[in-house]
Amino acid sequence: MTREDSTERENSTEGSESVHGEQIVLDGVTKRYPGTSSAAVDNVEMTIPAGEIVMLVGPSGCGKTTTMKMINRLIEPTEGRILIGDEDVTDKDPDELRRHVGYVIQGAGLFPHYTVGDNIALVPRLLKWDKKRVEDRVNEMLDLVSLDPDTYKNRYPRELSGGQQQRVGVARALAADPPVLLMDEPFGAVDPITRQRLQDELLRLQVELRKTIVFVTHDFDEAVKLGDRIAILDVGSEIVQYDTPEQILTNPASDFVRGFVGAGSALKQLNLTRVRDVKLDEAAYAHIGDDPSAALAKAEELGRSHIMILDDKHRPQRWVSIEDVNSGGIEKVSRDHELEVLSMTSTLNDALDTMLTSRHRVVVVTGAKNRYEGVVRTETIMDAMQAIQQGEVGASETTVEDIEEDAR
Ligand code: ADP
Ligand code: MG
Repeated sequence: MTREDSTERENSTEGSESVHGEQIVLDGVTKRYPGTSSAAVDNVEMTIPAGEIVMLVGPSGCGKTTTMKMINRLIEPTEGRILIGDEDVTDKDPDELRRHVGYVIQGAGLFPHYTVGDNIALVPRLLKWDKKRVEDRVNEMLDLVSLDPDTYKNRYPRELSGGQQQRVGVARALAADPPVLLMDEPFGAVDPITRQRLQDELLRLQVELRKTIVFVTHDFDEAVKLGDRIAILDVGSEIVQYDTPEQILTNPASDFVRGFVGAGSALKQLNLTRVRDVKLDEAAYAHIGDDPSAALAKAEELGRSHIMILDDKHRPQRWVSIEDVNSGGIEKVSRDHELEVLSMTSTLNDALDTMLTSRHRVVVVTGAKNRYEGVVRTETIMDAMQAIQQGEVGASETTVEDIEEDAR
């Protein structure tokens, strides 16, 4: 899911409370480490929009960590400027910058001799918040990352699983409510299932928080899943392509990018394409109690063995075979509680999954108020994949409102 639509809308109403992030601008940023011949980061120009997740992907040693550390001034640039909001970070006092930029690293980087609570309280205490406020904030942050405060705040990091430590790392980074969050391969050290959960949780948090997040990963799937935008970097943090996941998958800028996208790109694209982006197929259908002859003729025309029965509100009830219609009619058709239904925001990957487990090799799609909209068949997906590869179908952006609309 990308959040571009809503970000754009919110950016246009500057000052609205729903975007908490600030824009980051890298302006001709260069880092030369002493005693090295080439720059680790070479003249990077990049704008990271407020409230978006931007993923930095590139080979080891290309300068990702150096770039991140210049944003929070753990490393000073040799040349260039970095702006957060309207302010040059080099003009900010370091405490103020800490309040502005949260930092999460691989393995969470928690202090082993501090309790979970003390780790989270670190920046608030540096900022000299009073005791009560710090305590409340620690509880709030643990709740936010789905860890029970009473159970966990007095534990030490070694008493937590890797995934739990990573959650505490996120809680610590968010404690002072910074508009910017830097995440450097934060989920690199946890098992795949835990990683997937942490990713889902970050996306859930981001709907509420709308931070500006710069996220380094070497996992392209992670970049596609989390990123509003992806920057593919080469040596010296050279930006080879900086675009939405959809664009990078559909139009990789070079062989280098194609290498990252990998052979599974058409399959990956299925995760980005929504049912409403493709032309739905039709089925023969009739309403309960109708004369079925028109539907039977339609089924014959389409070469189908079943017709879809809808209720009086146009909601799908059950597939009934032509033989059963001929012998029993459609006066009394009950709802099939196992009928698989897709919504317009389901992905084509969801559709494929559903179809593979369905008895009918065809899945019904419903729109607003669960009304019948059409069907997805294997052919629908094949056609969509072909269109994707020819660049005809772009994945559309899905907003939170779409999902809520769908749920109604
Ligand atoms: P990435 O995070 O993409 O793997 P880094 O930013 O860590 O890359 O490193 C970029 C380049 O800078 C590499 O060639 C690395 O060897 C070099 N480098 C990183 N830190 C230092 C340092 N403190 N001193 C000298 N060279 C460094
Ligand atoms: Mg690194």
